[in-house]
Amino acid sequence: MKNERVNVTKPYLPPLNEFIPFLEDIWEEKWLTNNGKYHQFFEEELARFLGVKHISLFSNGTLALITALQALRISGEVITTPFSFVATTHSLWWNNIKPVFVDIEPNSFNIDPNKIEAAITPKTSAILPVHVYGNPADVHSIQTIADNYGLHVIYDAAHAFGVKLNGNSILNFGSLSILSFHATKVFTTFEGGAIISHDHAMKKRIDNLKNFGFAGETTIVAPGINAKMNEFQAALGLLQLRYVSEAIEKRRIVTNRYRNLLEKIAGVSFLSDFPNVEHCYSYFPVLINSEICGKTRDEVYEKLKEFNIYSRRYFYPLISNIPTYRGLETAKPENLPIANIVANQVLCLPLYSEIGDKVDYVVDKLIEILKK
Ligand SMILES: *Cc1c(COP(=O)(O)O)cnc(C)c1O
Repeated sequence: MKNERVNVTKPYLPPLNEFIPFLEDIWEEKWLTNNGKYHQFFEEELARFLGVKHISLFSNGTLALITALQALRISGEVITTPFSFVATTHSLWWNNIKPVFVDIEPNSFNIDPNKIEAAITPKTSAILPVHVYGNPADVHSIQTIADNYGLHVIYDAAHAFGVKLNGNSILNFGSLSILSFHATKVFTTFEGGAIISHDHAMKKRIDNLKNFGFAGETTIVAPGINAKMNEFQAALGLLQLRYVSEAIEKRRIVTNRYRNLLEKIAGVSFLSDFPNVEHCYSYFPVLINSEICGKTRDEVYEKLKEFNIYSRRYFYPLISNIPTYRGLETAKPENLPIANIVANQVLCLPLYSEIGDKVDYVVDKLIEILKK
């Protein structure tokens, strides 16, 4: 018998009656965007919540990434990971920057710091790592390399809302970090994003850039873009802050349930908790090794659909294998063996705070598929 549809994620939304007063107030004030009251409150509250100095809110994470590169005047070549959502590399393309791909580590799926130095050329100006699935990149090794070579580090922290390393926000590392509040992320404002910066002058520059480059009524300091967060997004963000810790705690419980149920299944592997890391449990990726379990990842993915279970192959195809980038020298699969293996084996199982006992249903069906 078919269960009701289980999607890979389901956005957490606060009770609607708590959002209505915000809407009534916005209707009353008629201030919809352009650094309104809720925008200002949310920036302050979010910075406090995350334990960071400065936040600039954005209409989405992709524009935050593109603007972060603009703010630091990054050009030439940027070293990055192929194992991410396409927006990471697309942000370089939109800035006319050449992506230089470096392979990932099998124990975090993040860029391998031991392979970064070999990819540096005289044109390299920055490193763009991703805290993929919220797993912290090796921030200390990466910063050492960046300091030695005079490079900026911009972290794509779209998956890493609230993640801490030794009690310190992961967003405090590097020159800048970006967040996404897209509907599929742990913390959502419908669409939305942010840049985390560490000094006031940089925040001001970013704020100018996201508002067409306006620094004053008649002063335009750069060819900026329109990437402002509106009052509806900001009001939802404020409300979401009340609930997000509870939502992450529920995700932690779901993740551990998956881990317990899948522990002894041959050919299905997953990462365990990272030491000294407060995680946000944004995804539950497993690797399906067809040589051990007799089924390919794609077979499992298709079969799960027959049971109304919609897992996702994040991140397949690998960014370096898509037509836009596959011609680059560093995109060759021989240069990226681990990333190619992981992209071919990975499957993200449904994970959201209200998933409940559907976890057991997903695991039952997964085991049934592997047994056939
Ligand atoms: C979601 C995501 C983005 C883009 O964020 P949007 O808010 O959807 O524009 C960038 N990088 C990664 C790794 C993402 O997962």
